[in-house]
Amino acid sequence: MSSDGVKKVGNLSFPPRKVWVKTFGCQMNYHDTQRLFSHLQKLNFTQTSNKEEANLILFNTCAVRDLANLKFYSQLGEVKHLKKGVKDKNVVVGVGGCVSQIEGEELLKKYAHLNFAFGTDAIDQISDILYRIYSGEDKVFINSWDTQDNYSIETKITHGSPQAFVNIIKGCNNFCSYCIVPYTRGREKSRRLKEVVEDVKGLVKNKGIQEVTLLGQNVNSFGKEHDESFCDLLKQLDQIEGLELIRYTTSHPYDLSDDLIAHHGSASKLSNHLHLPVQSGSNTVLKRMNRKYTADHYLNLVAKLKNANPEIVLSTDIIVGFPDESEQEYQQTIELLDKVQFDFIYSYKFSPRANTQASKMEDGLSDELRSKRLRSLQLHQLKIQEKNRKQLVGQQKRVLVEKFNVKNGEKKWMGRTNCNRIVHFLPETQETDYQWHWVELKITQATALSCQGTIVLDHGTTVVS
Ligand code: SF4
Repeated sequence: MSSDGVKKVGNLSFPPRKVWVKTFGCQMNYHDTQRLFSHLQKLNFTQTSNKEEANLILFNTCAVRDLANLKFYSQLGEVKHLKKGVKDKNVVVGVGGCVSQIEGEELLKKYAHLNFAFGTDAIDQISDILYRIYSGEDKVFINSWDTQDNYSIETKITHGSPQAFVNIIKGCNNFCSYCIVPYTRGREKSRRLKEVVEDVKGLVKNKGIQEVTLLGQNVNSFGKEHDESFCDLLKQLDQIEGLELIRYTTSHPYDLSDDLIAHHGSASKLSNHLHLPVQSGSNTVLKRMNRKYTADHYLNLVAKLKNANPEIVLSTDIIVGFPDESEQEYQQTIELLDKVQFDFIYSYKFSPRANTQASKMEDGLSDELRSKRLRSLQLHQLKIQEKNRKQLVGQQKRVLVEKFNVKNGEKKWMGRTNCNRIVHFLPETQETDYQWHWVELKITQATALSCQGTIVLDHGTTVVS
């Protein structure tokens, strides 16, 4: 780095520049954005939350939901005014992620102000892409699949928190009939178990990480191609000294093994929360979705999990209004909510994704009916949540404090329990900084979506197992 802050990379000079990033979609995408930042830092970029002052505008896109897609197209159009002309290299615009994987080339043709597009496997090529752009290329497009036999990465941390997301598997082999992920992220590829364990040990030792969330479209399939297993990985991570909490997402009920269920009862660091997407309570809809399990199979898994670990809380995903969903099929989903008593749910209206099986199915449902069913299902679930959360009042919970919000000049801190429940609390004094402290809170009030507590004990930032 020269005295004026300019960095030399290859034959090019990189002065200090600012990057604004908009991420859509799932935790995998947010984690990919962290990886992008780690590369961009090496090219002298710092982040900004003000896109008007950014030299680089980057979208990390999601093709799974219609809403995220629409928001992306609208924002991509809006940033055109930030460039003086399409050749203006003071402002560079790029798109990555799932939409870019399947439509990147068309996007580059359609939007003159878009400089580059890259697919889901090209995250680690962002430096090369920018090098080519700043060398004078007008448009760059990379969406080739990673052809390496092994999926091998090191987790990059660009923040100062004790929480880290760790990718362990990418892609999916399940081909649920509504889902575009196998087309945008490719087939399943796992990292080696030993590599993940060493990675997490390094994060704990060198970066002060205390909580890891293991990520993948279907983490339960981890290691299958290497005769390794997700459960064995969790067992080894459980032994890492200094690691406090292990979470993982997302699971497929078809692949949830008895070993893993048993581990939920014996592990010392595994979260008591499991996100287990069911999508529907109707066997006929599940069949049309190609989910490979029945509602009874799912309920049986829930019973086994609660038997192994009575503390476990479950969340799920529900798609309402799958093509030709009958009133009876919809009611079967409501019945399943009553039986499982989920702690929270993510619920969506079905929207067809191009080229998926579900997009070609007969569908007589109106958007109005879908919206009505979604509202009614969400209201039903909120009543379940409120009833269950109120039972927490009076209990003491350990929480890792993440951040605060200021309302009417008053600071309110927010953290998550082991089971991923959000708890807010007022500080003893406005000056106390609780961020990344482990605290004990007594729950004083609860609503369907969060709890309020008062502080009983502040352990500070040290591990308190
Ligand atoms: S399990 Fe189904 S819904 Fe999940 S990523 Fe794979 S294909 Fe999509």
